[in-house]
Amino acid sequence: MYDVSIIGGGLGGLSLSIQMAELGWKVLLIEKKEYPFHRVCGEYVATESWDFLRRIGIDDKALQLPKITQLLVSAPNGQYLESELTTGGIGISRYLLDDSLYKKALEKGVTVLTKTTVQAVYEISDYWEITTQKDTYMSKSVVGAFGKRSNLDHKLNRSYLSDSKSRLNHFVAVKYHLKGNFDDPKIELHNFEGGYCGLSKVENDVLCMCYMVSGKVFHREGSIEALEENILQKNPFLKKYLTYTRLWKKPLSIAQIDFSKKDIIENNIPMIGDASGLIAPLCGNGMSMSMHASVIIAPLLDQFLNDKISWSEMNNAYAQQWKVHFKTRLRAGRLLQQSFGKSFITNIVLQILKGSDTATKKIISATHGEVF
Ligand SMILES: Cc1cc2nc3c(=O)[nH]c(=O)nc-3n(C[C@H](O)[C@H](O)[C@H](O)COP(=O)(O)OP(=O)(O)OC[C@H]3O[C@@H](n4cnc5c(N)ncnc54)[C@H](O)[C@@H]3O)c2cc1C
Repeated sequence: MYDVSIIGGGLGGLSLSIQMAELGWKVLLIEKKEYPFHRVCGEYVATESWDFLRRIGIDDKALQLPKITQLLVSAPNGQYLESELTTGGIGISRYLLDDSLYKKALEKGVTVLTKTTVQAVYEISDYWEITTQKDTYMSKSVVGAFGKRSNLDHKLNRSYLSDSKSRLNHFVAVKYHLKGNFDDPKIELHNFEGGYCGLSKVENDVLCMCYMVSGKVFHREGSIEALEENILQKNPFLKKYLTYTRLWKKPLSIAQIDFSKKDIIENNIPMIGDASGLIAPLCGNGMSMSMHASVIIAPLLDQFLNDKISWSEMNNAYAQQWKVHFKTRLRAGRLLQQSFGKSFITNIVLQILKGSDTATKKIISATHGEVF
């Protein structure tokens, strides 16, 4: 019998496992992949997360990670604006960050099952049964940290899957690691028809290039190569970056990303990170939000395990705090997500913002949160 079982070992799940083990609980973390591995992600970690990451043992100074303090945004026609990123962030690959947290979790005594997929979760009176392709585990509590799309969404019959009205377009995302000239302190966001592309540095002078495009435009073009040649290259910035040396034979890609609202508590299971609602990458902070959610739920789980509150009191308190911290930010993210990628609107918006540094900074700060 475990005290806490966490399904999914991304940033949310790993961070929570470390905190719960530090509080002295017997923790099980189940992850379907094997560390270390690359993920489709822009790899810009906002400053708000770094106090927490340092607290759980990630030493950004020793890892010599690039600090990101400036923003450049371009419209599909190549006009651009530059701004200071007042709070800013740090670049680190998911390959390194997730693997460092995985090692920390092992060091703290977390039982981590990798290459293991959870198939079903059942609530049995006062405990939970978690079934994988190999075994069944029992646990006093369970948390869903299984990301934006998982087999469990269907198993749990999650309402967002049938809510086609509120669903934003499905997106496809593609990522490369590149070598080539790029100013360390910058993050660049370049728009093109149907999407946008982020570029910023991570460790070892590597440039991360990650773009998202609407499924509609992607399918019209038919392949990544055609999309890059016919659409991305029209933006003069992207034309240059697409000639840089690629460090992998093939890019990483994922499809069917959607930004629909999700329930924070599903089938009585609290969800953290993308499993509780995905933030638009344009806001640059999904990683911070998933770690922040783990910081919110950890003390509540601790109270539940110490018999100070019931499971439903814990879920209610978590959902309430989740809304206080993230609801407005997610709304801002969804709004931005809807307007970007539309060439005409982006060209106009950039034209307006170029004349107002204050408005630009307001938008940037709406997408960044407080230190946790
Ligand atoms: C294109 C793109 C760019 C982005 N860029 C940025 C950025 O620059 N900065 C930023 O802060 N955020 C960014 N984000 C968002 C960020 O990647 C996510 O918000 C973050 O990874 C969420 O972490 P998580 O722990 O919730 O989920 P994940 O990191 O996705 O982890 C979920 C884990 O659960 C596992 N899993 C799923 N189902 C099961 C199962 N049944 N059993 C076992 N394991 C399971 C998966 O294998 C996965 O490892 C970006 C997102 C996209 C799509």
